[in-house]
Amino acid sequence: MKVLVINCGSSSLKYQLFNMEDKSVLAKGLVERIGLEVGMLKHMPTGKDKVEISEKIANHRVAVKMMLDALLDKNHGVLKNISEISAVGHRVVHGGEKFSDSIKITDEVMTVIKECVAVAPLHNPPNIIGIEAARELLPDVPMVGVFDTAFHQTMPRYAYMYGLPYELYEKYAVRRYGFHGTSHRFVSDEAAKMLNKPIEELKMITLHLGNGSSITAVKNGKSIENSMGFTPLEGIIMGTRCGNIDPAIVPFIMEKEGISPDKMNNYLNKKCGVYGISGVSSDFRDLEDAAKKDNPRAELALKMFAYQAKKFIGSYAAAMNGLDVIVFTGGIGENSITMRQMICEDMDYFGLKIDQQKNQVRGKQADISFDDAKTKALVIPTNEELMIALDTVALVKTA
Ligand code: ADP
Repeated sequence: MKVLVINCGSSSLKYQLFNMEDKSVLAKGLVERIGLEVGMLKHMPTGKDKVEISEKIANHRVAVKMMLDALLDKNHGVLKNISEISAVGHRVVHGGEKFSDSIKITDEVMTVIKECVAVAPLHNPPNIIGIEAARELLPDVPMVGVFDTAFHQTMPRYAYMYGLPYELYEKYAVRRYGFHGTSHRFVSDEAAKMLNKPIEELKMITLHLGNGSSITAVKNGKSIENSMGFTPLEGIIMGTRCGNIDPAIVPFIMEKEGISPDKMNNYLNKKCGVYGISGVSSDFRDLEDAAKKDNPRAELALKMFAYQAKKFIGSYAAAMNGLDVIVFTGGIGENSITMRQMICEDMDYFGLKIDQQKNQVRGKQADISFDDAKTKALVIPTNEELMIALDTVALVKTA
């Protein structure tokens, strides 16, 4: 069975085609700069040469068509016939309170996904456009929606409510939702397998640290807290997002700098975080290089990131009354030896002790804790696309 996974952003479309018999990737690719003057398709078929096509890509429908043409191309394609695609899985950022699991897409489901735009005006519209384009071009292929928020729908009410008037929750669904759920679910399942223990008996903290970073408390296999909130802006300081700040700072800066709500939102998402602190970069490789050269603001940004991650670990261990394992994933979690070390430093109170030797690892599964550590520390590369493909197969098979 071949499953296509699509992740549509506002001007991009990422895809992966899986052979689900052995979970191998047949091809993956990226369509960028959709709607701009010059767009680009990068197609990477497994075992064949990479292809790049540069031309104007007017909209997402054209992008989906380009992707399908690339998959079918007689030279660099991997399919003989479009009918080989048995199902399509779509990443959807926000499922609101309506979706606590992945779901087979129907017209009714599309209506509900569209209703979720109210709480995710920036994130859901491109996902919807992508699904509609794919449904149009592959009308007979079953499709599944997999939501970043779904895994966190198990959070208790006292964890997801903010200290705002209750009417705001009733009127506008203002509450914590949590994000990166597909990644947290994938790595928590993998962690249980690595430890050879039932997930129902484990208290875990999963740290997805990338351009966007979020931390989840996974108790007995269920998410009970995620550091992101109503939007992916809340939580730990990120590449360009501010994370937690005193909310009173927002109107203060808007007034002082004469910034509109729209601009302020953009500012908090794009100009802050470790980029805003360091003035160097949002990329942790650049920050680590700059810190090695004694750049004090790059050093500060890295210290802030590690310190804030530590505080989440402490508070989530308290929320779960214990901690068996922490899991590092995402670009930084999987690759930054320095950041993993900084986060785990002086955490012996929690039984966390990482072995410097074992920590010399990038981009592959590893247990980096000392054998006698009470709390294990694991590195697990995430694979949201595979998780989406697995959900898609499960739902299509039971239909
Ligand atoms: P996204 O959130 O966009 O999916 P990723 O999870 O791919 O992002 O993470 C991207 C980030 O990972 C980069 O900005 C970079 O800071 C970090 N990163 C990748 N490789 C390394 C590395 N070798 N050392 C430190 N940081 C790294």
